Amino acid sequence: MSENTTHPLPDGVVIVGGGQSAAVAARTLRRKKYTGPITIVGEEPHRPYQRPPLSKEYLEDPEASVDLLPTDWTQAQDVTVRTDDRVERVETGPVVVTSSGDRLPASAVLLATGGTPRTLGGATGERIHHLRTRDDADRLRAALASGSSLVIVGAGFIGAEIASAARAAGVEVTVVEAAEQPMHRALGPDLGRVCSRLQRDHGVDLRLSTGVNSLQETAAGVVLDTDAGQISADHAVVAIGIVPDTAVAVASGIECDNGILVDASGRTSMPGVWAAGDVANQDHPQVDGRIRVEHFDNASKQASVAAQSMLGADTTNSDPHWYWSDQFGVNLQGVGQPHPGDEMVVRGDLGSDSFTAFFLREGAVAAVFALNDEETVGIARELVNMNLTVPLTLLTDPERDLFEALEGAAT
Ligand SMILES: Cc1cc2nc3c(=O)[nH]c(=O)nc-3n(C[C@H](O)[C@H](O)[C@H](O)COP(=O)(O)OP(=O)(O)OC[C@H]3O[C@@H](n4cnc5c(N)ncnc54)[C@H](O)[C@@H]3O)c2cc1C
Repeated sequence: MSENTTHPLPDGVVIVGGGQSAAVAARTLRRKKYTGPITIVGEEPHRPYQRPPLSKEYLEDPEASVDLLPTDWTQAQDVTVRTDDRVERVETGPVVVTSSGDRLPASAVLLATGGTPRTLGGATGERIHHLRTRDDADRLRAALASGSSLVIVGAGFIGAEIASAARAAGVEVTVVEAAEQPMHRALGPDLGRVCSRLQRDHGVDLRLSTGVNSLQETAAGVVLDTDAGQISADHAVVAIGIVPDTAVAVASGIECDNGILVDASGRTSMPGVWAAGDVANQDHPQVDGRIRVEHFDNASKQASVAAQSMLGADTTNSDPHWYWSDQFGVNLQGVGQPHPGDEMVVRGDLGSDSFTAFFLREGAVAAVFALNDEETVGIARELVNMNLTVPLTLLTDPERDLFEALEGAAT
């Protein structure tokens, strides 16, 4: 692809980080007919790959595909992918400076550096696992094959997905959670109980409202010290969230506060530099303030918006975020972020194997969470997007077609 000096961004685009946002930004730039140079600089030894399968298919089967940007595509599209190279900072210009000593001038830079798993008091060891990278997943898979017991700290989605894969591999699993229910803070007690039920029905020893004091590796395994006693296992996984990786932004003097601060188009405080994905703390019209989201769909949307903004388009990311989790043979999906004061109404039955819960704020649909109900979520995404008030009888009656709500809104 030849350089097009009549096009915006004549000096090219450098994308820092080789994950979901990086891949979508590169694809969007080419889809929008940008013909200048694109370079992705990633610190991992792998070409860009997807993370969601790492706690699902790929954890069970190393042959499962995780590719994000196949070599055929990057060659055909003339996108340069540099692996094993860490970016140190961005200087005014902007110029991207890598740890290998290269200086890469660019017309626009995207920071898509993701996040790093939180540790439990800094505990590390061969038998203490975190799950963020492909290498982490390979190590954990080997641990599940060799060990017969696993203790997981954190009953969020990633902890639950690992528990699910471990149970499928015949491993005894104990999950320790500080909150009174899994996902309690995000979804409230009723949906938390649904998540608990899923785990316990599949043989997980789920210990709720249990604080953790320390985690130590021993010669034979690990010992987790909790406020309800000690738990020993062959291996441990710490799944207590991530810290946004702001190192490059901080070293570059870019404004950060729980992530890199960006506007609704992804612009940072440094001219010519955008940020997207798990690291970006975005000014978001739907939440009346800022939000930093750690989900795949958000990383993709923010990257697409940032790439279009680089090309001069007046685009913003205003969609409510959407996410999913696959665990214990069921599919969970959510849209938007419930607030503590929201009223929850349910289409179906929380005790069944398929339902959708709607969170109403001032009567309008503000957030949704569903179990095995993909079809309803598809429509619910639009209801949240439009902040629509829907008659309760229509919302909660599974026999009625929810499309009526959209048709009603259109008339
Ligand atoms: C195990 C797992 C399962 C998940 N499952 C789901 C799911 O089911 N549904 C869902 O919605 N979301 C899921 N997610 C979340 C989703 O994968 C993330 O939201 C998404 O990957 C974020 O993309 P990103 O581009 O912001 O960051 P990442 O994909 O994390 O990519 C960031 C990359 O930048 C690199 N990097 C960092 N600093 C530098 C530097 N200085 N120089 C060069 N490179 C650097 C990192 O090494 C990393 O490779 C999951 C995440 C994990 C870890």
